[in-house]
Amino acid sequence: MTILVAGGGIAGLTFALTCHEVGLDVQVFEAATDIKSLGVGINLQPNAVRELYQLGLADDLKQIGIEAEEWALFFYGAHPVWTEARGTQAGYNWPQFSVHRGQFHLRLLAAVQHRLGKACVETDARFCRYENHADGVTAYFENSNGETFSRDGDLLVGADGIHSGVRRQMHPEQGPVNWSGAVMWRGVSRYAPPRNKNSFVFVGGIAQRFICYPVEPLDANGETQLNWIAELHPEDSGSVDQSDWNRPASADAFIGQFAEWDFGWLNVPDIVSKAEGIWEFPMVDRDPVKHWIDGRVGLIGDAAHAMFPHGSGGASQAIVDARVLGAAILDKASVPQALLGFQEKLLKPVNDVVLRNRSQGPVGVLLDIEARIAKGQSVGDAINQQEIASFMSRYKQAAGTARDTLNSAAPTIAAASSVPD
Ligand SMILES: Cc1cc2nc3c(=O)[nH]c(=O)nc-3n(C[C@H](O)[C@H](O)[C@H](O)COP(=O)(O)OP(=O)(O)OC[C@H]3O[C@@H](n4cnc5c(N)ncnc54)[C@H](O)[C@@H]3O)c2cc1C
Repeated sequence: MTILVAGGGIAGLTFALTCHEVGLDVQVFEAATDIKSLGVGINLQPNAVRELYQLGLADDLKQIGIEAEEWALFFYGAHPVWTEARGTQAGYNWPQFSVHRGQFHLRLLAAVQHRLGKACVETDARFCRYENHADGVTAYFENSNGETFSRDGDLLVGADGIHSGVRRQMHPEQGPVNWSGAVMWRGVSRYAPPRNKNSFVFVGGIAQRFICYPVEPLDANGETQLNWIAELHPEDSGSVDQSDWNRPASADAFIGQFAEWDFGWLNVPDIVSKAEGIWEFPMVDRDPVKHWIDGRVGLIGDAAHAMFPHGSGGASQAIVDARVLGAAILDKASVPQALLGFQEKLLKPVNDVVLRNRSQGPVGVLLDIEARIAKGQSVGDAINQQEIASFMSRYKQAAGTARDTLNSAAPTIAAASSVPD
């Protein structure tokens, strides 16, 4: 069986490693001419780390990232709303890792090139269109000189991100990306982590917030690479459909509104002043679609379900998708059946997470708190720990990160599984 993958991001490369694990031929086509270390911090939840460990990437994660220990939510700085342990500290069998996206991406690439050979990932190959046939699929690509070429395969996987060309052909009716109204300014600063822990810290409310977490172990000075996001709702975000993860920005665009955000234990203006670079990204997602498959073509990762990042789950879900699709190919007798099996397992629950994240995901607890304050309650009275615990538990169940369910689940792909010759 020959598998073609459009997009060499986190989903596409994880899928290539999965194909290799189970003995499938795979070729990845990536639009970029060169795969570089791009982006800033991301979190890999235990459901994704479980899969990465099974792919033999535990040492890579330990070398480039840190185990997140705590998730801490503060209402505009002063008022603790909720803190909870994360990863193994919370009793999961696997850690939650905070990593630099670019470094993680390069580790995946190195693993693919080492295990499958350098030729497995063809760069400067932008997916253009596909044609389904009775017993195969043809994918057409274009390079930066405008030259086109095609490849035949048994399956085409669209892992080409939020602006997926595969999805565009599958869903020509889809509208532009959906803008939440928020813009995220993202950066990394050399800084001592707040709360003196590997904490994911959220400060603020619905309209304005600052989030930060370390993505590297502490150095001898007690400092780390502190990933941060400053988020506001400006009236105009520019052209959101051109949303580009690499758009550079200046602190002038937002820092005025954070000028007073020095809470003693967390000094936002100081952290931002030490940024090594700042990038701007409008918070966008895509409307859920009714199917991710068309004949011998399937979507995974952001191409299938780009979501707002409130649950820090986009990259994790992309990894889980890749593994579930691999398992479906092992299980089913034909490619169309495997795609159906994959879709039956994930489409509904993941579309549900996309919609939950439109209501702020786990941070949605703030909606109730702010509504109560607006009706005259004090901040302290508006925060109900029991309600928050139950809200968080429901979100984790929906996002596939509930501890006991995950700890007791059978591996997505049993060790030493392979497709029959
Ligand atoms: C440059 C970049 C920086 C990012 N930075 C962050 C960040 O800092 N924080 C964060 O939370 N998320 C970031 N993301 C998004 C995050 O990586 C994804 O949400 C998540 O990992 C899901 O992975 P994915 O593989 O589905 O999509 P992506 O990681 O977006 O990968 C998609 C891949 O497909 C390639 N591609 C696109 N169109 C085509 C085409 N027509 N043909 C072939 N290849 C194509 C892209 O170049 C990319 O390599 C970034 C994404 C990119 C591409």
